[in-house]
Amino acid sequence: MIERYITHAGAEAIAEIVSLARGLQGLRVLHVNSTYHGGGVAGMLRSLVPLMNEVGLDADWTVLFGEPKLFSATKKFHNALQGEEVFPAEDELDAYFRVNEFFARYAPFDHDLVVIHDPQPLPTISFREKREPWVWRCHIDLSAPEERAWDLLRPYILRYDAVVVSSEAFRKEDLPTETFIVPPAIDPLSDINRELSPAEVEEKLAQYGVPTDKPLIVQVSRFDKWKDPLGVLEVYRRLRDEADARLVMLGNMAGDDPEGPEIFARVRERAAALPDVHLITETDELLVNALQRAAAAVVQLSTREGFGLTVSEALWKGTPVVATAVGGIPLQVRDGETGFLVAPGDYDAAAGRVLELLRDEDLRRELGTRGREHVRENFLITRLLRDWLSLIRELLG
Ligand code: UDP
Repeated sequence: MIERYITHAGAEAIAEIVSLARGLQGLRVLHVNSTYHGGGVAGMLRSLVPLMNEVGLDADWTVLFGEPKLFSATKKFHNALQGEEVFPAEDELDAYFRVNEFFARYAPFDHDLVVIHDPQPLPTISFREKREPWVWRCHIDLSAPEERAWDLLRPYILRYDAVVVSSEAFRKEDLPTETFIVPPAIDPLSDINRELSPAEVEEKLAQYGVPTDKPLIVQVSRFDKWKDPLGVLEVYRRLRDEADARLVMLGNMAGDDPEGPEIFARVRERAAALPDVHLITETDELLVNALQRAAAAVVQLSTREGFGLTVSEALWKGTPVVATAVGGIPLQVRDGETGFLVAPGDYDAAAGRVLELLRDEDLRRELGTRGREHVRENFLITRLLRDWLSLIRELLG
């Protein structure tokens, strides 16, 4: 039960959750997103939904199943909301609205509150007679959305009772809807984050043929252009002369991200020219865990980032992170305190910081210890559960 989190979150935090949940017993909450696996949203729902049930709510999770055209439309919306000049084609838009209409008609909506995650199921709201409060939970970096896509989606967003985003930086002035800031969080008891012994780490890395003879530099991310995987290779190339290290890039494919295989092919081609690079596309949460523990430095060089759970995951394991100062990342990495921040695309700066970490074990330990504390205080799933319970109470009056 929820008490198993006391060791990590403290008794007071758990007592607060139990007290907030008292008035919400039996409340039927439905979460809707568009994949059960791959990416941070699915991972978080896998922990959050059972936890809501554990504290007495009646929480469900359902997925908007789609066809390839739907996902090419929604990936374009995703990219456009993150600032790329792109817009779905006519037939993709048709698929987007058709699938949402179908879903609105046939999905089992019989709840006291509906939480819609991201743009994929966003228009569902307009194809139903709405009787309960609806929340749009947007996990995307909304700091500079491309206008055309934003203008098309905004009328749908305006139908919602509340919007939730990850960072103050994503609050939109032209969106009068009440907006809550609720950063994501990691589950310290999940396979990605639970404690592993050094022997378990070794064994996992051996299973994937990753030797531990040299310091590891690791990025764990879907192969997505916003995560700048080619930039990661470039940083590695620039520091390689000065440090004998290995680079591991782990990225599985998400069901709702059609661009993954193409980006991966480009990364593989570029990586072939570099020594000691390991590219892995397998889905294995214990491998994520082991790599984040074994790394001398984790990098996260995103050019846009809604939050970047992988950053908190690494910090939680006491591993310092070199990351770009975009989206939700600066909430997690305090420059010089829990890791290092660099500007996106500044590969020299990133290489310099990684080298600094590779050369200085004390610095790694110091940043790592502070990083873990920072995550404990701010980014554990118990804090996320508490925020949702408060928000639901506020919405339901
Ligand atoms: N992840 C994983 N396997 C992989 C790559 C990523 O399990 O090969 C997990 C990662 O550990 C994190 C989530 O997927 O929990 C990605 O979340 P994040 O917020 O970093 O990025 P998103 O993919 O949601 O943009």
